[in-house]
Amino acid sequence: KIIYLNGEFLPEEGARVSVLDRGFLFGDGVYEVIPVFGGRPLRLAEHLDRLAHSLAETRIPDPLSRQGWTALFDELLSHNPGGDRSIYVQVTRGVAPREHAFPEAITPTVMAMVNPIRPLGDQVLAQGVAAVVIPDHRWARCDIKAITLLANVLARQEAVDSGATEAILVRNGLATEGAASNLFLVADGVIVTPPKDHSLLGGITRDLVVELAEANGLPVMETRIPEDSLQGAEEIWLTSSTREILPVTRLDGRRVGHGQPGPVWQRVHALYQDYKAHLRQEA
Ligand code: PMP
Repeated sequence: KIIYLNGEFLPEEGARVSVLDRGFLFGDGVYEVIPVFGGRPLRLAEHLDRLAHSLAETRIPDPLSRQGWTALFDELLSHNPGGDRSIYVQVTRGVAPREHAFPEAITPTVMAMVNPIRPLGDQVLAQGVAAVVIPDHRWARCDIKAITLLANVLARQEAVDSGATEAILVRNGLATEGAASNLFLVADGVIVTPPKDHSLLGGITRDLVVELAEANGLPVMETRIPEDSLQGAEEIWLTSSTREILPVTRLDGRRVGHGQPGPVWQRVHALYQDYKAHLRQEA
């Protein structure tokens, strides 16, 4: 495995960061995960826009131009060949003596690596997954893809401890998103997902799902989801770059809809698979 670190491509064992890195000390950094199918990054422009947003909002200077990022990812992929993969890229504010306020002269630490994407298992596609509803203990700027993920880690672990795959987070009576995924439900035949605001991460998969559904005549509403509308939903899905569109068939131990991945999911899942197939063909 070859890692990109601060301008160099290194074997994983040789890629080292100082213990004074503010990512390590404060979680002072941001990241992106970009899925790659057939050698082609999916929605690269949108991922770079979101990275630029995360950097701007945390006041970390963008260390590379868009062309620079694209060239870096191309070279990193060529060093790490494989099938379906994802690029993980992280930028921290950099290395400096420990002090909360920004140091005056500091250079961001840039790291990128490639990980395999595991396909969704046949069992998941046939039966869906379980989720649990958990209070959202995160900060108030969930639109920033910050590496500071303690609340997400604890929520996901709580889900796993109760035999579920993902946690659905609730704040002020509203279901916002998963610990590492966006939330969709189907109610009265309409696909519903919360609007993008500071309470959730604007997922690239989320936007693509909305776009594919609308382009194919499926009704979509971007509207807030009260916690108490989860139990009556016909279908619940969770979307992310690496797990695509996960059908949730059990919520807090109770069946969602008929307890099977639903017909609207089947449709949107197929549209997403077609989209990926076209991307692969263009490679
Ligand atoms: N919300 C959160 C909190 C996430 O961590 C993620 C995935 N990293 C998502 C949503 C989904 O975003 P995307 O579709 O861009 O992977």
